[in-house]
Amino acid sequence: MSVKLSFLGAADTVTGSRTLINFRGKQILVDCGLFQGPKEYRERNWAKFSPDPANIDSIILTHAHLDHSGYLPRICHEGFKGPIITSEGTADLCGIILRDAGWLEEESAKFANESGYSNHKPALPLFTVEDAERALTQFRPTKRQEWTDLGDGVSLRFLRAGHIIGASLVQLSFETEVGQKLITFTGDLGNGRSYILRGPDQLHETDVLVLESTYGDRLQPRTSAMDALGEVVRRTYERKGVLVIPAFAVGRAQEITYILRLLEDRGQIPKIPVILDSPMAASAMRICLKHTEDQVLDSAFHTTAEPFLPQLFEVSATSDDSMLACMRSGPMIIISASGMLSGGRILHHLKRRLPDSRNTLLFTGYQAEGSKGRYVQEQAAKDGKVRIHHEEIPVEAEVVTLDHLSSHVDQTDVLSYIERMRKLPAKIYINHGMPEAQRTLAQKIHARFGIEACPVSDNSRVELFSSHNAFRR
Ligand SMILES: [Zn+2]
Repeated sequence: MSVKLSFLGAADTVTGSRTLINFRGKQILVDCGLFQGPKEYRERNWAKFSPDPANIDSIILTHAHLDHSGYLPRICHEGFKGPIITSEGTADLCGIILRDAGWLEEESAKFANESGYSNHKPALPLFTVEDAERALTQFRPTKRQEWTDLGDGVSLRFLRAGHIIGASLVQLSFETEVGQKLITFTGDLGNGRSYILRGPDQLHETDVLVLESTYGDRLQPRTSAMDALGEVVRRTYERKGVLVIPAFAVGRAQEITYILRLLEDRGQIPKIPVILDSPMAASAMRICLKHTEDQVLDSAFHTTAEPFLPQLFEVSATSDDSMLACMRSGPMIIISASGMLSGGRILHHLKRRLPDSRNTLLFTGYQAEGSKGRYVQEQAAKDGKVRIHHEEIPVEAEVVTLDHLSSHVDQTDVLSYIERMRKLPAKIYINHGMPEAQRTLAQKIHARFGIEACPVSDNSRVELFSSHNAFRR
């Protein structure tokens, strides 16, 4: 019996991670992500899910980011009743991320109905907090490294991916007619340069690798992230400006907060107010402290967030706090979500701060093509304006990007990771990247290792380990 893979998302793009496995009549979904970004992607979340969710046996989750986990409430609402198997850290983070996503869905539907600002009458949420709660009851947290038997000749284990707390590579073992075979999904793979997270576990062998390629055609700087961030803080401070940092609430926000503290301790930046305007980021910090298996911090950090935090640190718990922070004058640092400017409190801060040349907008994470973040990063400074909440906002602030803090591997990292394997995979499928990134990485891998490396396209299917041809496409 062969193994069939269907790439239902994160193929030719970085969003909507979903790969379906068919084996001996069993259907297993690896990741169940939301499509985010431009409208044509977001509309895919509303399409009828195929196969019928009621016929899927289990879902395996690599990590908690919404582009990997955010469709879970909807798929459970649509009839999926099986277990959602994931690491303990991911289960904890999903507890806050999925509830928050459900709340945001409900709020934006309410807003659209009240303002009449929607073509849909009435506008509906994709899923609700109740759907998120139901999905959370189906979670089965599992320890890493240990093999779990899923029945019908399939077993599974997680390895640390070092991308965010809980993030894991997924290894699946299949008893096929051509012998025991391993397929490994990297999910999003970390680069080992984080100040908080441990690097990924080294994979030693797999027959087939499904590899992410977010930075497949790019290299990140190897100079000090701390020095680079310190430089931006000092420059903005000297202008008495406000440094606004859009950050993913889970992962990046904690990393930046901690680096700011280190810079203060070393006397490399002045002590200025640092406002974390994201209640979810504050909850994520508690989960980060709990999961010591994923961090490099010493035991002083395991019980209290104190050593993490800059001296003049504040959390904006309510939206009133957020509005007050919006009105305050610099020098000051504001960290807020969403990281790609797709919504959330960051937009109020940008409306207020972008028109002032003393201020700085600092990008620290990947900005997907078509996102508002990518537009501001590449175009808004040239155009001198950006549209936020139906208003033209002048862009006078300095716009800076630091690629140092990425939580993904870049091209060099991937090649070294493969090189360190004891036995190379026979075949690599490349997903989770824009077409150019997928293609470039495939060419590099083939040139260096002679491995057949295939960029996967949207909705493509492959058949593996059949007795006629071990790797029939
Ligand atoms: Zn991720």
